[in-house]
Amino acid sequence: MIKYSLVCESAHGFESWFPDSASYDTQVKRGLVECPTCQSKQVSKAMMAPAISTSRRKEARREAMQAVAEATPAPMPEAAPVQQPVALLDERQQAVRAMIRELHEKLTENSTDVGSSFPEEARRMHDGETPQRSIHGQATFEEAKALVEEGIPVLPLPTLPDDRN
Ligand SMILES: [Zn+2]
Repeated sequence: MIKYSLVCESAHGFESWFPDSASYDTQVKRGLVECPTCQSKQVSKAMMAPAISTSRRKEARREAMQAVAEATPAPMPEAAPVQQPVALLDERQQAVRAMIRELHEKLTENSTDVGSSFPEEARRMHDGETPQRSIHGQATFEEAKALVEEGIPVLPLPTLPDDRN
């Protein structure tokens, strides 16, 4: 389908669709195309107005966009501020993990793992039943709380998910 801008002998402009340019010629010659305003069959193609107006519109739009671009300060690149905090957070997480691992190693280095008997061992040591030594092991929150309340200093040993077995 092709759309033509047509004009009649009285300069009435109108548009009409044709299957192709050959059909336009045939239909006009046979008087099948008439002006919707005055019903004149003396119609012809209008000057290439659509093509001209399209290029003018493009030019006008380009000028308008240029004016907007000149008036607007260059926007900051969007990707950079988003990626940087992620990278920083990642590095910080790595550093924190390294610190916890180091602390964990230092705390367990010279201490005996007494496992789940930690509360009893800690209490016995505190009461002087066993010699003072560095121990570590497991205690529930309630057990640890009870030890602290009894005046036995216990520290929660930081663990990492991949350190647990
Ligand atoms: Zn007309």
